[in-house]
Amino acid sequence: MRKIIGLLAICLGCAWTAFGQLAGSAPLVTVIRAGTLIDGQSGDVRKNQLIFIAGNRIEKVADGSAAIPAGAKVIDLSGATVLPGLIDSHTHIFLWGEDPAKGGYDANILRAGAALRAARATYACKRALEQGFTTLRDVETEGAGYGDVEIKEAIEEGTIPGPRLFCSTRGISSTAGYGLEGYAPELVMPKGVQIIDGPVEARKAAREQLDHGADWIKVYMTHRSWLDGEGHLISQPTLTVEELKAIVDEARGWGRKVACHAYNGIGLQRALDGGCDSIEHGLEITDAQIEQMARQGTWYCPTLAVYYEDWGSPDTAAGKRDRVRAQVHEVSFRKALTEHLKIVYGTDIGGIPWQEPEAQEFARMVSAGMSPMEAIQSATSQAAEMLGSKGELGVIEAGALADVVAVSGNPLKNINELEDVKFVMKDGVVYKNSLSGGN
Ligand SMILES: [Zn+2]
Repeated sequence: MRKIIGLLAICLGCAWTAFGQLAGSAPLVTVIRAGTLIDGQSGDVRKNQLIFIAGNRIEKVADGSAAIPAGAKVIDLSGATVLPGLIDSHTHIFLWGEDPAKGGYDANILRAGAALRAARATYACKRALEQGFTTLRDVETEGAGYGDVEIKEAIEEGTIPGPRLFCSTRGISSTAGYGLEGYAPELVMPKGVQIIDGPVEARKAAREQLDHGADWIKVYMTHRSWLDGEGHLISQPTLTVEELKAIVDEARGWGRKVACHAYNGIGLQRALDGGCDSIEHGLEITDAQIEQMARQGTWYCPTLAVYYEDWGSPDTAAGKRDRVRAQVHEVSFRKALTEHLKIVYGTDIGGIPWQEPEAQEFARMVSAGMSPMEAIQSATSQAAEMLGSKGELGVIEAGALADVVAVSGNPLKNINELEDVKFVMKDGVVYKNSLSGGN
């Protein structure tokens, strides 16, 4: 009897493995041989390591001489640099660029119906995953309602490939605080966010969004921006402190956090006074505001690269403003580095066309003074901590989810290596491997 059960178990094992391979899911034990390992957290670089993966978790990381169990699938990345799956903390899977020549932002809403937008979001998710971004914090759908929650469901049920999504659904701003705008006042135009006025409406919007699956709440604390007579950047504030506090208070009750789009000035100050968890963009942050962020533990998601996109011509008001924005942004970023603010990697991709490399922000961060290792950590363990997933995401260590990527060169010497990710595993499943065959 025992023999029969044993045989049965072996056969079931074979069947499971065959099915697993056919379905593209993980075998029981996978071992990755990593030539160079950057674990996302420690800052150390280790050579010749073995990463043991059981199901969708990392079981252990051991020296290259450790015994490999019989029957394990070995993935040979001994010529590569292995890192945790990357995390982009500021994306818009439902945004399809803002090129003025293609109709700018408005075309996203006016010229694409729900099905086309869902198809584009599906493409965006596939693009992110194949570039090694295994987790995204997607910070609102730009008029596509709760579509992000449904795309997330499609990924989780295995219908489409894509990263792990943290969704923030519709986003929130005030009247006069978001596009579509600039049309005849008689027309009621759709908006790229949920519009609220007053703390009661603010709380109600947060409740609705949380009810429909928001993992984060995204709030716009500034909107339009221009230069004053002296050439200083001004941004129009939107929500009041009282409105933001109602949203933050509601989110806290659900154990959720609030991301605040804020450029500078009054709106950025209100974001900090209202208890925002992350400042998005933060183009111009005063010394006092940097100090307040450090004191409150506020995360900074700078998104440098997107402010080099779609500049107006240099002799126009918008063109001058675009150049000042990029200029003051770098100053703020360098201050944030000096004061050791908690910085996470974010691209605002979607604002940048999805066809462009999602890893382009790394080079911006490094050229503005961040070390390559810190830039990698901003997209791994730092982001994981902000997302409440410390030890689960953004790290290669025992107990973490098996999100692993690899590049053929050394990203600490050339950060642009991260624009050419050659191996991608998410949740223990290999999505891409142009480095090795394995056994
Ligand atoms: Zn954005």
